[in-house]
Amino acid sequence: MEVGVSIERAIEIASLYPLNYSIENISIKEAHNRILSVPLESNIEDPLFDNSAMDGWAVIESDCIETPVNLKIIGTSQAGFNPEFVVTKGHASRIMTGAPIPQGADSIVMIEDSETIGDEVIIKGPARPNYIRKKGENIQKNERCLNSGILLKPPQLAIASMMGFSQIPVIIPPQIAIIGTGDELVEPGNKLKPGQIYESNTKALIGLINEMGCKAKLYSFVSDDLDKLRETFNLASRECDAIITSGGVSMGEWDLVRKLMENEGDTKFWKIQIKPGGPPLFGLWNDIPLFGLPGNPVSSQVVFMTIVSQWISNSCNYDDIDGPKLFEKIRVKLLSKAKGSFNKVTCRRINILFKENTLVANVLNNQGSGNLRSMVDSNGLTLLPIGVDGEKGDFIDALWIR
Ligand code: AMP
Ligand code: MG
Repeated sequence: MEVGVSIERAIEIASLYPLNYSIENISIKEAHNRILSVPLESNIEDPLFDNSAMDGWAVIESDCIETPVNLKIIGTSQAGFNPEFVVTKGHASRIMTGAPIPQGADSIVMIEDSETIGDEVIIKGPARPNYIRKKGENIQKNERCLNSGILLKPPQLAIASMMGFSQIPVIIPPQIAIIGTGDELVEPGNKLKPGQIYESNTKALIGLINEMGCKAKLYSFVSDDLDKLRETFNLASRECDAIITSGGVSMGEWDLVRKLMENEGDTKFWKIQIKPGGPPLFGLWNDIPLFGLPGNPVSSQVVFMTIVSQWISNSCNYDDIDGPKLFEKIRVKLLSKAKGSFNKVTCRRINILFKENTLVANVLNNQGSGNLRSMVDSNGLTLLPIGVDGEKGDFIDALWIR
């Protein structure tokens, strides 16, 4: 077991024990917000044939150098049908947007630039070759258009369908157990007795797990009782692909997650050089990866964001840019001082906004690790390196949470 590891080392160790996942083929119609598990290469080229970008007339450009000019209407090219005629000198074909260009024509005149009289059209405006969408100009056959590990958003779904895919392989969301621990925890909706609090961490964890493309399975919280905790770990390790606990990992007598993992589990690291969120642990319980997150509400979210989300992303081979993620790593200019720490990377809550073409950050006042308000009122975290204070005007690394 390593103690007091850096954020990078924590991710590296955890990634040696990845979250297992499987894949399934599903209908493209059901794939919104799912994660693609292989790259997709186009079955066809796009466009498949030269076609018109405008409603108008398919003509020969050299017929229309001087306008107005009268051309004889030879036929109509409609979307969905192949024109069987040829456009010859002095002729024009009616054409709809998306319809194939008839043989012989080399440009399009917009309908707005014309007038029809009997079987002739008077061309009054320019004939433009660039109103023809050329075969293959968007996508070549076998060209890779979608990378593996991306979140399928509306544009990605549309292009997959355009490329000819009716079914696509996606990741089956791995199931992650959430176990809250602590004698003081009460589910909202019940009356609080003195000393009790409404439980909050697991509610944030459900959302964070979902946003990372996994499925949360919430277990009833466990009181500070070793036997009950062991029983719940055993059950969760049978039912889920990973376990995330909250609370009970510090130095206290009642920090039973740590004790149980130390005595009966296989702990790989304990404590990370991060503030807030120092005491997390990671290890295996019955060969299932287990993250023990700190109980302090801000700490549990910060550790999930900075470490657990990266482990999920590595495990499931998410695309760095277009895969599920909780933040963008950016540089911001501090508008006020952000105090660092001598032995930890400091994640101060900040408010990031655009000002005079620069991303700037206000540092929130109340930075207690129990102050959930600071997570709601902020949209970012500083990443102040160990031993560094951020001064007003400094550019620093930060996470922009969106
Ligand atoms: P612990 O890590 O168990 O010592 O808890 C640290 C602090 O976080 C204590 O103030 C706990 O009451 C609080 N806490 C622990 N678990 C939760 C939870 N699930 N929801 C809200 N607060 C919690
Ligand atoms: Mg506790």
